[in-house]
Amino acid sequence: MADIGQDINHAKEVLGSGGLVAIPTETVYGLAGNALDDNVVTKIFKAKQRPSFDPLIVHTSSLDKARDLVIEVPEPAEILASRFWPGPLTILLKRKPIIPDLVTSGLDTVAIRVPAHELTQKLLKEIDFPLAAPSANPFGYVSPTTAEHVNQQLGSEVDYILDGGDSEVGIESTIVSFEGTTPKVLRLGGLSVEEIEGVIGSVEVNIHSSSKPDAPGMLKSHYAPKTEIVLLDAFNLQPVEDLSRIGALVFDKPLDHIDPDKQFILSETGDMNEAARRLFTGLRALDQRIDISTIVTNFVPNIGLGRAINDRIRRATAKE
Ligand code: AMP
Ligand code: MG
Repeated sequence: MADIGQDINHAKEVLGSGGLVAIPTETVYGLAGNALDDNVVTKIFKAKQRPSFDPLIVHTSSLDKARDLVIEVPEPAEILASRFWPGPLTILLKRKPIIPDLVTSGLDTVAIRVPAHELTQKLLKEIDFPLAAPSANPFGYVSPTTAEHVNQQLGSEVDYILDGGDSEVGIESTIVSFEGTTPKVLRLGGLSVEEIEGVIGSVEVNIHSSSKPDAPGMLKSHYAPKTEIVLLDAFNLQPVEDLSRIGALVFDKPLDHIDPDKQFILSETGDMNEAARRLFTGLRALDQRIDISTIVTNFVPNIGLGRAINDRIRRATAKE
């Protein structure tokens, strides 16, 4: 198990000497290391057992610092960054050679984000290199939204866990690309499409979903608990006799016929932001119950962060 605490100086020392630190962000916890050091980046991929074709997001403390890492910031990107950074928005930009090939899986763009968590902001301001940080979970599993989640799964892989409490947004960042004429959302996430369009006008939503992705990292099956998880509709077609071992992850109301104690309600008031914040905690909680052998779930209304939640539910329930 790793050391857990709020000691920014210790985190700084660990990172400065090539170690890995789990960092709190408003989206999910990240597994962070010096993005400019090949050896460190290799360690990150290994710790997560992440395939090398899945590029990492680079975190920095401000738009100005981000400029040192990229060739240019196109105007709509500049507008979005000024409006939503620090925040749950990742922007793909043409990288400078200072960014190692390993970080971008050889692509000529790099994914950049300025996270909003206070502890991580302070840390980023005090170090003189950016942090490569994918979510701090084993590849393909549910992302962590507490320090304890990180410790349970990657405790032996990280040198320190910076504990910043529960992640406020709770799902990963929205990724936007500016290649081509219209901005494209490549991953739905913690910043809603509506909010983006409110600032730069209409965008394409182009989320790849395939078992052989041409957009790296957008695998059809992802964010999945170990317990079998199925969509309620599909489940209805094959009723099982024994409902006593069924758990449910539901939006705002419990399901009939299933033990209320085995149901996780995302938001009793139907608040979509609360639902996003609790999604991964709910999946983990149900996954850990030994008295649940199948989790049933359903889509939430497709508005605001609901689209991103539904994307996670789609991937969690996808068969490989
Ligand atoms: P994670 O850090 O686990 O939230 O995942 C980061 C995701 O960002 C990857 O899985 C990719 O889908 C996406 N990504 C990062 N860099 C690029 C890039 N240069 N081009 C396209 N997608 C990227
Ligand atoms: Mg991830």
